[in-house]
Amino acid sequence: MKIENISHVAIAVRDLEAQIAIYRDVLGLELVSLEQVDDQGVKAAMFQCGQVRIELLEPLGDDTPVGRFIEKRGEGIHHIAYRVQDLEGTLGELSERGLRLIDTAPRPGAHGAQIAFVHPKSTGGVLTEFCQEEPPPSA
Ligand code: ZN
Repeated sequence: MKIENISHVAIAVRDLEAQIAIYRDVLGLELVSLEQVDDQGVKAAMFQCGQVRIELLEPLGDDTPVGRFIEKRGEGIHHIAYRVQDLEGTLGELSERGLRLIDTAPRPGAHGAQIAFVHPKSTGGVLTEFCQEEPPPSA
């Protein structure tokens, strides 16, 4: 496996509109997408910051993963996502090396990416996502 770069850092927020006003209007980051991902129970705003993106996540309800995260820990960094080329192979290697996977197989994320999460207990308390953003060569 090889990590290409940090794809994005995701931040859980209670009020997406209020935070867009900060990240876009005060920090001056470019808002590149705004979408609702029902599968993950969030509204997501993606900002470009050089090669890395910052993703703000507002839960669609209390009983969603991000809703429960905010309930327990408050707003803050929710996960870090690393970009890899071969997500399926990466998951196999991570599992062999003893990391606790939340997703044992890639699943669809935003923008056609394939994503999988590793349990924060394995990665220093930070929920860690691996994502493959281009379609695999065979597709
Ligand atoms: Zn993510």
